[in-house]
Amino acid sequence: MENIDIDKLTPMMKIYCETKEQYKDCILFYRLGDFYEMFFDDALTASRELEITLTGKSCGLDERAPMCGIPYHAVEGYLNRLVAKGYKVAICEQVEDPKTAKGIVKREVVRIVTPGTNLDTQALDETKNNYIMCIVYIADRYGVAIADISTGDYFVTELPDSSRLMDEIYKFSPSEIICNEAFYMSGMDLDAMRDKLGITIYSLDSWYFDDAVCKDKLLEHFKVKNFAGLGLADYDCGIISAGALLIYLFETQKNSLSNLTHITPYITGKYMLIDSSTRRNLELCETLREKQKRGSLLWVLDKTRTAMGARTLRKNVEQPLIDKSEINRRLDAVEELKNQAIAREEIREYLSPVYDLERLITKITYGSANPRDLTAFKGSLEMLPPIRYILQDLQAPLLKEIYEDLDALEDLCELVTKAIREDPPLAMKEGNIIRDGYNEEVDKLRRAKSDGKDWLAKLENDEREKTGIKNLKIKYNKVFGYYLEVTNSYKDLVPDYYTRKQTLANAERYITPELKELEDMILGAEDKLYALEYELYSEVRETIAGQVERIQQTAKAVAALDAFSSLALVAERNNYVRPKINEKGILDIKEGRHPVVERMIPNDMFIANDTYLDDKKHRISIITGPNMAGKSTYMRQTALIALMAQIGSFVPAESANICLSDRIFTRVGASDDLASGQSTFMVEMTEVANILRNATSKSLLILDEFVRGTSTFDGLSIAWAVVEYISDSKLLGAKTLFATHYHELTELEGKIDNVNNYCIAVKEKGDDIVFLRKIVKGGADKSYGIQVAKLAGVPDLVISRAKEIVEELSDEDITNRVSEIAAKEHTAKKKSKAKKYDEVDMAQMSLFDTVKDDDVLDELKNIDVGNLTPIDALNTIYRLQNKL
Ligand code: ADP
Repeated sequence: MENIDIDKLTPMMKIYCETKEQYKDCILFYRLGDFYEMFFDDALTASRELEITLTGKSCGLDERAPMCGIPYHAVEGYLNRLVAKGYKVAICEQVEDPKTAKGIVKREVVRIVTPGTNLDTQALDETKNNYIMCIVYIADRYGVAIADISTGDYFVTELPDSSRLMDEIYKFSPSEIICNEAFYMSGMDLDAMRDKLGITIYSLDSWYFDDAVCKDKLLEHFKVKNFAGLGLADYDCGIISAGALLIYLFETQKNSLSNLTHITPYITGKYMLIDSSTRRNLELCETLREKQKRGSLLWVLDKTRTAMGARTLRKNVEQPLIDKSEINRRLDAVEELKNQAIAREEIREYLSPVYDLERLITKITYGSANPRDLTAFKGSLEMLPPIRYILQDLQAPLLKEIYEDLDALEDLCELVTKAIREDPPLAMKEGNIIRDGYNEEVDKLRRAKSDGKDWLAKLENDEREKTGIKNLKIKYNKVFGYYLEVTNSYKDLVPDYYTRKQTLANAERYITPELKELEDMILGAEDKLYALEYELYSEVRETIAGQVERIQQTAKAVAALDAFSSLALVAERNNYVRPKINEKGILDIKEGRHPVVERMIPNDMFIANDTYLDDKKHRISIITGPNMAGKSTYMRQTALIALMAQIGSFVPAESANICLSDRIFTRVGASDDLASGQSTFMVEMTEVANILRNATSKSLLILDEFVRGTSTFDGLSIAWAVVEYISDSKLLGAKTLFATHYHELTELEGKIDNVNNYCIAVKEKGDDIVFLRKIVKGGADKSYGIQVAKLAGVPDLVISRAKEIVEELSDEDITNRVSEIAAKEHTAKKKSKAKKYDEVDMAQMSLFDTVKDDDVLDELKNIDVGNLTPIDALNTIYRLQNKL
């Protein structure tokens, strides 16, 4: 574009280039008749990205301008593809009628579509928000504003450092970030955010972040006098990010953004802090590898019936609470809905047909909702009164609040019912929208269209009778329209109010005011009807848009109800219990299960396990056991149960008493974190550093086999020092589950008061091992690496050679050395006497005695064979076999 000689261009291309100049960072879709055309570099980009043919257009220059185009009726698909690839697209429409325009038709950019502002329902996942985030970096703080214009959500917060910022970026996973120059240049790895998280990132000019402009924009939009009214009095850089975001949204949407009715300030301290790697490791909303919902915690918990409910549940899972009474309020709601199964299922039935009210109201305020959107809206509103009716009997305070907030919107339902037909078309300007009886004029016009002939016949008849002209006829031609024709023989009977229009040899033609009116009605009926229907339809739409706040409030109430009902249903179906919440630092789970793994394996095959941690003697559990024994599953299940409780969900256990955790940290397996490019060991150590620096005594730490990537001695020493550090309440004192392959660490039990050993039991059977999946007190004495390798299918030759080698080597040396150190350092400390963990102290028991063959015999004897389905039988045999 830079090298183009503007003066040589044809007038139209000149205007094109002027427009393009204002939207340099966008691909300009330029409306020409039935096509959106792109020229020059835009054409090259679009033809490549969309695989459409590149042609050319003479533009006044020596060479034709590269050009490609897409038909207007298929624009959405192409637009979405470009936007999904991170492009911004400016849509330039013809804003005057080409038929009446003088000279070149006037065109204007009517909207800019960007990844974070796309509203097309086909491009959006209805169960997820589509967030745009604005980050400003000022004086070492981050102001962060987040909006989803498709739902009207708008939040703002401030963060003290870049790691907190990363946590928020992961939490919201926006599709677009806009920021000030200072953030852009602040050294954060933006390329990684682009590549790994698929976020489009732009820095905006500095005027977007002008303090005064931002403040004015916000006050003006929310129609308030000061920031205290918005709850933003203490948010200096938050206000700038929120203001800049608003300016950007105005610029791209080019409308009043009347669906952004609230801005919600929040402090990250209100929620459990979950860092990005923990979020991924615990597979809260998507799995680590496939990045899909199936297999995640959300997949188990989400049985919502509406898109709004699904989004709310996702938000709750993404940000567990840390306030005991708030958690209990949620649990009360879930409990009541669990117990009142009939009411709940009725509510869920009524929720099923409810459309996405949040996104519908956005379309309505944008003026882009079509008539069918309004009938969908009405259909949804019809469900609200019965839902309210059921809710009125429920007692939990949160359900009562939902009842209060849930406005049945009967006035709007009635309006749409009265005004809009049951099965209107998608088109807004082709009639058939307004219901008969709603508007006299519409009825008349419609009648004029269909009944015109009858009216003419009636008029003809009436006039004959009135005048006595027996052969009077109403006729039509293109020049005069409708006229009354009187043959010369009746000329004398023509009354005064007839106006002569034409004289023929044997007849005269007249019109009357009444006939003229009829004519206007009949001929103009269709055009008028369509225009009037559109006008009335727009009025209805605007009336609804005027109630945006009521509708959004109701939508949020419906969403919360749906989310709680889903948790209640899952609690009932999956046999969960209500967790007790304590602030005494006790984490006591009896017969806990992994919520996802138990759903993935056949019925009842999951072996439940207990967890007990506290601030006194049970701060750290060192967990050993061979690979594949179930260590990770056990540790994650503990973290997930704690997290579920803080979401306000029931949990998979016989009973659970959960202390509030301010943060959960996990250090699990090899990481493909943003910090990639570093060695595994470096990544591990960075994560450990992060944990040790940021964890508090109220945090829950899950450390799974870390310090793998270095020599045994280094690794062991680091692991050892880490355990000492965590266990010491003067240094950290966080509750920790620590799985390790360094059996030497089990030496720490008894040497540090609050460290206890557990292992996951396996049973040796000849040369093989059987996994019992049961956690028991004590350390594993063997790692069974060779047996596990055999199970995995490593060739026999390698297995037998490995056995020979293992006999030659011995880690006695290491063990002895470690014991020496431990003894030296801890002689002063008393050995722990009390071992409260299990009712039976299993520490002294041999690992392999834990399950007796007698158990199997007993169980066999007790099976009620007559009532066993074939699949139960298979499962039972499988389970019993595993016990042997
Ligand atoms: P580790 O971390 O010790 O290598 P994992 O926790 O990865 O082992 O467990 C290996 C597999 O064993 C899991 O994929 C799961 O299918 C199964 N498993 C683990 N724990 C249990 C359990 N308590 N009950 C049933 N199956 C389990």
